[in-house]
Amino acid sequence: MPHTTDLGAAANLLRTATDVSLLAHVNPDADALGSALALGLALHRRGVPARVSFGMPGEVPESLRGLDVDGLVVPAAEVPAASGLLVAVDTASKSRLGQLADRVNATAEAGGAVLVLDHHASNTFYGTHHVVDETAEATAVLVMRLLDELDWPLDADIARCVYAGLVTDTSSFRRARPGTHLLAARLIEAGADPTAVARDLMDTHPFAFLQMLAGVLDRAVLEPEAAGGHGLVHTAVRLDDLIGVRLEEVESVVDIVRTTAEAEVAAVLKETSSGHWTGSLRAVGTVDVRAVAEQFGGGGHTLAAGFSADGELEDIITKLREALSDPVLLASG
Ligand code: MN
Repeated sequence: MPHTTDLGAAANLLRTATDVSLLAHVNPDADALGSALALGLALHRRGVPARVSFGMPGEVPESLRGLDVDGLVVPAAEVPAASGLLVAVDTASKSRLGQLADRVNATAEAGGAVLVLDHHASNTFYGTHHVVDETAEATAVLVMRLLDELDWPLDADIARCVYAGLVTDTSSFRRARPGTHLLAARLIEAGADPTAVARDLMDTHPFAFLQMLAGVLDRAVLEPEAAGGHGLVHTAVRLDDLIGVRLEEVESVVDIVRTTAEAEVAAVLKETSSGHWTGSLRAVGTVDVRAVAEQFGGGGHTLAAGFSADGELEDIITKLREALSDPVLLASG
C-alpha cells in the first residue's frame, strides 16, 4: 500500500528502531533540518543511535546551527549505505536528497524501512512507508503528530526544532490554521523561545546583505500584463551578488520581492554557477506556481515552488513568461 499515509505504522517503525538515519533535502531549510533534528533528538534521548544529514552543502547553514544541540548532524559521506530505518523529511522526491538519494534503494534492498515524512503535494511516494499530508503547513506538523502518536515527551530542544520548521514554513504564522497556533503554544510552553528562534532564523543578516539587496532590487522588473494580466515581478541574484552573503540571505530575497502589490507572481532567479540557475516562485493566492515550476521540471506548493534551469537569464525569463501566459488559476483565487 505504498500511497497510504499510516501514522500508526510510522510510529511503530520509530518505536522499534535500533539505528536511524534522518535525511533532509539538499540546501535544507528550517522545516527540513528542524524536523529531522526533532526526531533525531527524540530517538537519541531514548538511547537509539540516530544521525541527521543532507546531500549539500557540506556544512549546516549558519542560521540553523543552534538547532543541533546534540551534534547529530554528520557529513553525507558518513551516512551508511543502508540503515535499519531511513527517514526522509520534507523531501518530495528521491532526487531532492542529492548525493544521498542512493541510500533509499540500498536501505530497502537490505530489508530496512524507508519512511517518508512530507507535506509537498508533488511527493512521489518513494519510500516503503509514508506520512504525506499536503494540507499540513510544515513537515514539522507531521513530526508533532508522530511524537504524539508515540507519546514521546517534548523537551525544550525538541520543541525548538519543531517551532523552527513551523515559524518559517507558515511565514511567521501568517499561513497557520488555528490548530497550528495551538501547536505553537505547546512548543513555547515546552521551552521553545520564539524571539530567539526568529532572531537566529530570520532577523539576522551580515551587512553585505544590504548591499546585495540594493543591487538585486534595483534590477527588479515589473510586468503588469504578465501571468494572464495578474502581474509578474522578477529579479536575479547573480554570482557577483553573492560576496559576503550566505544561502540564507539569497533565499530571503523572494520574501521582499513578493510584497509587490502590482504582481500576483514573484520570481527570483539565483545563479548557482555560471549559466546554471535555480528559480523561486511565489504567488499571492490566485495563480498555481507549482504548475509553472513543473514545466521546468521543478515542483513545490501551489503558492511557493522552485525549479532549476540552465542557460542565459533572458531566455529563462522568456520561458517563464510563456509558462505563465495562460496560468492555472486556483479555485479559491
Ligand atoms: Mn517544508
